[in-house]
Amino acid sequence: MSFIVAMDGPSGTGKGTITKQIAKEMKLTNIDTGATYRCVALAALRNHIGIEEEQKIIDLVDTLSIDMKQEGGNTVVLLNGEDVSQEIRGKEVTSFVPQVSAIKEVRLKMVDLQRKMAEGKDVIMEGRDITTYVFPKADVKIYLDATAEERAKRRYKQNKEKGIEMSYEEVVESIQKRDKADKEREMGALIIAPDAVVIDTTNLSIKEVKQKVKEIIQKKQKELKVKEIAYKERPNTKWKLFEQKVIKAFMGGLYRIFYRVEIRGAENVAQEGPLIICANHINYLDAAAIVIFTKRKVRFIAKEDLYRIRILSWLGHIFDVIPVNRGTQDIESMKRCMKALKNGEVLGIFPEGTRKGIAKGGKAKTGAAYMALRTGTKVVPVGISGSFKLFTKVVVNYGKPMDYTEYTSKSPEKEVLEKVANEIMDQIVMLTNQGNSCIMPKEKNSIS
Ligand code: C5P
Repeated sequence: MSFIVAMDGPSGTGKGTITKQIAKEMKLTNIDTGATYRCVALAALRNHIGIEEEQKIIDLVDTLSIDMKQEGGNTVVLLNGEDVSQEIRGKEVTSFVPQVSAIKEVRLKMVDLQRKMAEGKDVIMEGRDITTYVFPKADVKIYLDATAEERAKRRYKQNKEKGIEMSYEEVVESIQKRDKADKEREMGALIIAPDAVVIDTTNLSIKEVKQKVKEIIQKKQKELKVKEIAYKERPNTKWKLFEQKVIKAFMGGLYRIFYRVEIRGAENVAQEGPLIICANHINYLDAAAIVIFTKRKVRFIAKEDLYRIRILSWLGHIFDVIPVNRGTQDIESMKRCMKALKNGEVLGIFPEGTRKGIAKGGKAKTGAAYMALRTGTKVVPVGISGSFKLFTKVVVNYGKPMDYTEYTSKSPEKEVLEKVANEIMDQIVMLTNQGNSCIMPKEKNSIS
């Protein structure tokens, strides 16, 4: 799978320079999409085709072969095999390209080409519609901006260095014209994607912008690495089963030394068959308490961020924790949960979603209810009472299984899901309060 960094912004914001340098330093393939449109404009100019002959331009595109290759850190643009890297930057092409790029059919063909160029590669791609149209699901989306005056100053200086003859006034006019054309065209207009990070480069040096962009990319790469580790499943070897047993016994010993653990209603957990255990969530120790003290293996569903912590990542893989990317519709996670239930396994879920979620004013999450209704699996509510302060009492109170088979459906309705989620939560609260009532008042830790 490829890693896509998409960058948009008006001309003169430094996109080209930044992407070129970052590509080199971060080993990404640089794709300058503006160059593809410039090639079409150049070919049209060479063939003396004017903008009024739109169909001829569209037909011309089919005869062109546009390619890019990296050479010593530079992108060489090839038009029908000829190196046109310099020629496409000329004055004539620059003023013609906004018109050419406004032709819908040209855009469709270029977008197709740009996507093909990125296939199977880790790329940094810059243009006007990359974050919104070419790769709306890019891993990283950045929008570079700067005032028109600053951009004109930069372009004027750049032109001088490249020996392109253009007065400052001409540059300002060209930038304004291109801005207008880029922002107003019907298809692929330059707009800021809602999920793009906007960097105003007006008062920043290239080095500073580069640093900011690199940090954004590195953060995303780290996130993806954690995800990759989290979602890697460990095969059920004999060694893993041994590790599970030893850790359970060892942790069970520690819990019994440090807390006065009382287990109630353990018989409510059926010996076999699929089951969803739903508990209140006080702190990280409660998930472990359920894994340790439930006779059967419980596979908890936990946020994938936990895999950033080495020891939790290790334990997560030993106990087959199912990672979930909270705040998104994590299909992979849901698939794993369904598969586990199909295999007759026990899932552990905190319907509060987060620690002390209900006490913080949150609503019961409907994930557990959804799985129960989809699969007809029974839910065992659990109330965990106690403060988990050393040498205090902790009660793990298993309630009677809740059977929702009468509501089983392939697509449960929202109201039903909420009703079931609330019923489960109510049971959890009741069981927690039962446990609290046998704990000294000052140790009370109610979630109701
Ligand atoms: O980025 P550059 O200035 O080389 O782009 C040349 C022209 O190509 C832009 O002025 C714009 O009109 C067009 N373009 C586009 N969509 C892109 C990239 C460039 O329409 N993704």
